[in-house]
Amino acid sequence: MLMLGREVNQPVDLLYSVPGAKTDESQDEYVMRLRDAITSAHEIARNTLKTTQNTMKRDYDVRILEREYKIGDLVYVLDTAKIKGRAKKLDPPWKGPGLVCEKLSSYVYKIKLQKSVLTINHDRLKPCKDREVPPWLKQCQHRLQDEVNTPMQQQHAQQPEADQPEVKHYEGNKHSTCPIPTCGESTKKLKHHCWVYHLPYIFKDLPLDKFEKEPSFQKLRGEAIQKLAWWIVGQRATVYDLVRYVNSNNILPRNCTMMQRCQDQMRNVTAVMNWYPPAEDIYTMYPVNSPAVLMQWRILITLLAQLSPARRAEFRRIGCDFVLPPMARQQSPVKRKAETAVKVPVAKSYKSSRPTEGRINLANQSGRARENKPPTVSTVVKTLTNLQNQLAGKPLDAREILNRKRQSRDSSRPVDTKNRKTESHPVPQVSNPVVDKNNNVNRIQKVTLVSEAFDSHFHLDRASILLTGSLEMSVEQYLQEKLIPQPDIAVEMIGGVLVYCDPDTYPQVLPDTSKWKIAIGLHPKAAPYFNNDQFMAMQEALTDMRVSALGEIGLDRTVNPIHWMSQEKILDKLLGLASPNKPVILHLRGQATETMSDAVYTRALEIVQNKCEPEQKIHLHCFHGSARQVETWRRAFPNTYFSFSLKVKNFHEDQIMAARNVPNHRILIETDSPYCTIPSDIRINNPRRIGQVAMILAGIRSQPVAEIFAVTRDNGKSLYG
Ligand SMILES: [Zn+2]
Ligand SMILES: [Zn+2]
Ligand SMILES: [Zn+2]
Repeated sequence: MLMLGREVNQPVDLLYSVPGAKTDESQDEYVMRLRDAITSAHEIARNTLKTTQNTMKRDYDVRILEREYKIGDLVYVLDTAKIKGRAKKLDPPWKGPGLVCEKLSSYVYKIKLQKSVLTINHDRLKPCKDREVPPWLKQCQHRLQDEVNTPMQQQHAQQPEADQPEVKHYEGNKHSTCPIPTCGESTKKLKHHCWVYHLPYIFKDLPLDKFEKEPSFQKLRGEAIQKLAWWIVGQRATVYDLVRYVNSNNILPRNCTMMQRCQDQMRNVTAVMNWYPPAEDIYTMYPVNSPAVLMQWRILITLLAQLSPARRAEFRRIGCDFVLPPMARQQSPVKRKAETAVKVPVAKSYKSSRPTEGRINLANQSGRARENKPPTVSTVVKTLTNLQNQLAGKPLDAREILNRKRQSRDSSRPVDTKNRKTESHPVPQVSNPVVDKNNNVNRIQKVTLVSEAFDSHFHLDRASILLTGSLEMSVEQYLQEKLIPQPDIAVEMIGGVLVYCDPDTYPQVLPDTSKWKIAIGLHPKAAPYFNNDQFMAMQEALTDMRVSALGEIGLDRTVNPIHWMSQEKILDKLLGLASPNKPVILHLRGQATETMSDAVYTRALEIVQNKCEPEQKIHLHCFHGSARQVETWRRAFPNTYFSFSLKVKNFHEDQIMAARNVPNHRILIETDSPYCTIPSDIRINNPRRIGQVAMILAGIRSQPVAEIFAVTRDNGKSLYG
């Protein structure tokens, strides 16, 4: 009827004409009647549709009204997420109870659960009518109601309230493992760790507010995501392909949440990149509904875990020119500001009339200075103390140290005032001769007092990948890195041990210097991937005369316990490559919750005793065991050397005792660069920061710093000589 304007002709109508049918119509009449019939038929249909629609809407609205929630209401959330390998059928379908903490639109709510905040549609919620609710929920509810009642405070309080659960989630007592395979760090603050070690700064939210409005900055972010799509999905992939890849492969961990301010960031990028905005302009992670959501740190780190180390390094460097001025890439902008604010006034030059010895590096005006910056007043005081102690040449007792410190403080005062004088009336340095005690005419000398140091353990290959994305960097280039902040003590590196513990990055060409020693080993964290080819490669490398040590090898229980046994087996096998005159470097570390790794030190000793003769030279790198362990290891292997890293900074009482009990001829210091930085916002450690370790160790052992430098240097040379 709607199509033809008449009833359809049936075969029966043709056989017997329909009773009452008009057959004597003219053409015009037929057309007129047809037109009227069609119009009225459409009219009727339209009216009927309208009433049905109204009825449907009324019925729907009746139901939807039941589902309107107020801020502060308690609700259950429908949980449809599946865990791989677990049947959903017997799990409770509802999560919660949770709290309605924000109404984003008439049917999208923000719900706070105990550990997360979800943005969710009303039809996945049901009101919670429990008589008893958990105490944390009651507290939150009260706090929220207080805020609603005092609208002035609401604006200020809402933001941190919304962020709080996420912070709690990652900073709670739960350890999470870093998904980056070469890292695997177990940490309570995974998010912080990822920003410090793996993610590019351009995706960071808070400190970059000022760039948010710049299209070129957003473009950088967008292009970085495009790059990820090419690397992960394929050469012609679009960002939408990457989104599909993330959604269909289920690679995201469950229960990740997104902060409110991320929504704005994502909106900005979407606008600049001309991507399709998601429905309702609300960005979600389950499923990922826009390429911009891929900026979320959790998704980024999951994607980065699938790249090669070189690609990761390349990705990490994206935009660092934009965000930070080129000189200061090692540090976050916030920290840098604080640093410049408290900078000690820099002494332009000063004169030392003290007799100096060969050990102290005396750089003259023409500039053999190692540091770009002249020494600050505080470093001058420190180095003067060193100098005095060094000149004394023998261990000092406590009273003597005190006296000498007092002396040096006194003697530094005139230097101090002189500095101030020279600053206000700058002396033309070159043309102004000064007569010293011995009546020798000298130019004013810019003196840089540096201690000679031996870093007994660092990783050039890994630093090179982190800094340049390749393996090309030389030791010299590494040591010339601009360090921000500057190390407390200026040192001259007179040698060290380059540890290669990743068969893929063993050096092709060995450097032919006596200064840098080479160690070849396998990091225990890499044990699960160890194969016979790698074993052969190690065996071959160790026959080279220029390889001075086997290591690092060992046990590391920060990884999944299923790997512990294979670590022990591989340690046992690799110890077969040891020879008594080449030191074995052991990396021993207990679970992340342990401080002194006692069980691991004990177990490792058993394994090593089984394979090695008592005269075997052993280097316990990054030692953090107890005094008892020092004793047992020394009894079993008198040639055990104990090497301390910056971990000494957080030593407990028993570890401090251990550090005191190691005799002078068995102690070493190391940086374990590029790792082991405290504070951890120095991203990449450097051997030139070794002075910090020496200083803390000197404090623990009540020894002059100069002596620590001297004995560790001699020990390093004799162990690896
Ligand atoms: Zn990591
Ligand atoms: Zn190690
Ligand atoms: Zn190491």
